[in-house]
Amino acid sequence: MAEIVIKNVAKSFGSFKALHAIDLTITDQEFMVLLGASGCGKTTLLRIIAGLETPSQGEVWIGGRRVDHLPPRERGISMVFQNYAVFPHLTVYENIAFGLRMKKLPQAEVDKRVKRTAELMHIEQLLKRYSGQLSGGQRQRVAVARALAMEPDVILMDEPLSNLDALLRLEMRAELKGVLAESKTTTIYVTHDQVEAMSLADRISVMNGGRIVQAASPVEVYRNPAARFVGSFIGNPPMNFITARRLGDGRWQAADLTLDGPAVQQDKLEFAIRPEDVNVAEGGLKAVARVVEPLGAHTLVTCEVGGGLFRAVLDSDMRVAPGDELSLVPKPDRIRWFDPQSELAV
Ligand code: ATP
Repeated sequence: MAEIVIKNVAKSFGSFKALHAIDLTITDQEFMVLLGASGCGKTTLLRIIAGLETPSQGEVWIGGRRVDHLPPRERGISMVFQNYAVFPHLTVYENIAFGLRMKKLPQAEVDKRVKRTAELMHIEQLLKRYSGQLSGGQRQRVAVARALAMEPDVILMDEPLSNLDALLRLEMRAELKGVLAESKTTTIYVTHDQVEAMSLADRISVMNGGRIVQAASPVEVYRNPAARFVGSFIGNPPMNFITARRLGDGRWQAADLTLDGPAVQQDKLEFAIRPEDVNVAEGGLKAVARVVEPLGAHTLVTCEVGGGLFRAVLDSDMRVAPGDELSLVPKPDRIRWFDPQSELAV
């Protein structure tokens, strides 16, 4: 069992607060992705769990053991980082065997584990090659194989695919997902790539400014963002937001559309809808198409609605040209509302 519990963990660098009192539990064998823009604190949190950074406050527990005072090697974790340290002067075999030799495992056991993980990562034919002669993708596989060979309860990965070209990333992504599910490890994976996060994660922790804004399944963070930030960060293009005024008794006015919404007392809320959650039909938001971008399966239309920009993803069979007037009807069950002050979902 390797549940990871982060209790009230904060980190300051001088007067700068990189992490604000984080509480997070990653369940045994879960694949948790830490997702956020550059500088939001993902790497700092990962390094604290790894033991490469000391928290200013709080506790880290792995598998029921408090580990925040232990050095990295005593935490039962393996790490794969962006600039994967594969030793160029060692063969692939010796690279994978490296940690096992440090642990002084018998040669037969080393051999068994190296061969098994090399097979898993499809690099068994490269075992005798020097790592300096490998491609980026191959070196990446070696780094992952080395981490897996340790049979850790926990694997921590920081942007492990970021040095690969797009096609290789896609391939490795699918492979990693399969291998890690099979190996039954608990995984924490840092990325700023939302597609990678959505495809890999059991749960995503969306981070912003040193805080976890929402920790939920990929579908949940996409469909039900807990905060405006999540709706604006996840989704490409992101959610549309329109300031709505209260008409009374749960009726709201968003641009020229009158609709039902939350029965709250404040005067303003933000009405939010994803670009793909509108239909062209009578009685919707009045929109003027400004930019029309055919994307193959769909057409992205950037419109003007009530003086602001609004993006709609429409069926590519629809003929739309710049200057056309459209009426966009939001799908009622996909409408979300946010409080403009707290920026949280209402
Ligand atoms: P990226 O995706 O760019 O790696 P990140 O979300 O992983 O970003 P962190 O590396 O965790 O971000 O950094 C969080 C904040 O803490 C940043 O503003 C960074 O400049 C700051 N920071 C990180 N390490 C240190 C340090 N050793 N000293 C001072 N500030 C630091």
